[in-house]
Amino acid sequence: MALIVQKFGGTSVADAGRLRNVARIIADTYRQGHQVVAVLSAQGDTTDDLIEKAREINPQASKREMDMLLSTGEQISCALCAMAIEALGLPVVSLTGWQAGFRTNSQYGNARIKKVRHDRILEELDKRRIVIVTGFQGMSRYEDITTLGRGGSDTSAVALAASLRADLCQIYTDVEGVYTADPRLVPGAHKLDEITYDEMLELATLGAQVLHNRSVEMAKRYNVNLEVLSSFSGKPGTKVKEVVKRMERSHISGVAKDKNIARLALVGLEDTPGIAFKIFSLLARSNLNVDLILQSIGRSDTKDISFTVAKSDLEQAKQLLWDNRESIAFDHIDVCENIAKVSVVGAGMYNNPGVAAAMFEALFNAGINISMISTSEIKVSVLVDMDQADRAVQVIHDQFTEELEGRR
Ligand code: ADP
Ligand code: ASP
Ligand code: MG
Repeated sequence: MALIVQKFGGTSVADAGRLRNVARIIADTYRQGHQVVAVLSAQGDTTDDLIEKAREINPQASKREMDMLLSTGEQISCALCAMAIEALGLPVVSLTGWQAGFRTNSQYGNARIKKVRHDRILEELDKRRIVIVTGFQGMSRYEDITTLGRGGSDTSAVALAASLRADLCQIYTDVEGVYTADPRLVPGAHKLDEITYDEMLELATLGAQVLHNRSVEMAKRYNVNLEVLSSFSGKPGTKVKEVVKRMERSHISGVAKDKNIARLALVGLEDTPGIAFKIFSLLARSNLNVDLILQSIGRSDTKDISFTVAKSDLEQAKQLLWDNRESIAFDHIDVCENIAKVSVVGAGMYNNPGVAAAMFEALFNAGINISMISTSEIKVSVLVDMDQADRAVQVIHDQFTEELEGRR
């Protein structure tokens, strides 16, 4: 008997038929003699619809009330799924995030899990019940409902798997696993049988939303046996693990795109020491993450610094810099939201200096302009115009077809 955590995403639970399908997958696992804890997302576009509903009432609604609202989506899908399992004649109980013991910090909308007090889940499993848990939510120490950030149900599932020391954590979704690029965008993308935690973390952080990046971070930290697979096909998916078998020539694992970023440029800064420190420590103190940074060469005693932030942080970052205009001393702020970051990822890139050049060649051949570049041991990222981002992913994927084939 194994303890298995199974997570089902929004598309997998979108309507009654799909919920019955999920109930059947859970029931089959249970009937094989395993203990099952299932984590569910809200149905289809429910979370987006709830955000829209809030906007109609108050576009400036507090984050606390937003979490109170958004957490209801998962409650609906879990109750319905439990009912579908009851209809199959199996013992089942559904639990909200707080009933399941998710304790988080108080950062509404992007809360971090501090611990999972899983006693209730263990009691239910001891009674041989299937346990269904709402993804994406927890409770702060003030006993307020919190949510974990968009896509956060993956992180709920991995946190449960880590806490319960589950034998396996299966992330069921609407594609057959992790691909070398978004299969909806790149028809030639192919499924990876396995990928390392590090590569998956990089892909997820760079925009491949198939896994919430915090779930991968946690899976690595607790060595969770993780698998991404389809809730529709029943085929084997992608295993995410510490080490994978690999041919030496395949040093690339995938191409990712992130449209949820914006670029800020501070123009007319003094060309003296300490300016970058001032700007980025200010942003860091407000918990604003900065990604790509570019500083122009100083000319006639002034310079510019450009950097990217998550779109959701743009207004706060702009306001903060504007409020500190005198102490930083800049001329004006230039903002661009019409951009996307496209990245190529691979653990074997370090020993292959040609990767960046090949990527730039593909973009050049397609006539796509690059406005910022960033590299690390495991990735090369470029900033391009939003309307050229999909094409950029396609041509970069084409350029590396041979290497990506090596990952099969
Ligand atoms: P869920 O609702 O199951 O959590 P998501 O929409 O969050 O599903 O994530 C699955 C989607 O991620 C897929 O439908 C696919 O379009 C997208 N995706 C982006 N990059 C990749 C990739 N490299 N491999 C697989 N899917 C990807
Ligand atoms: N329902 C939440 C969202 O849409 C969480 C999730 O699906 O993982 O972001
Ligand atoms: Mg998701």
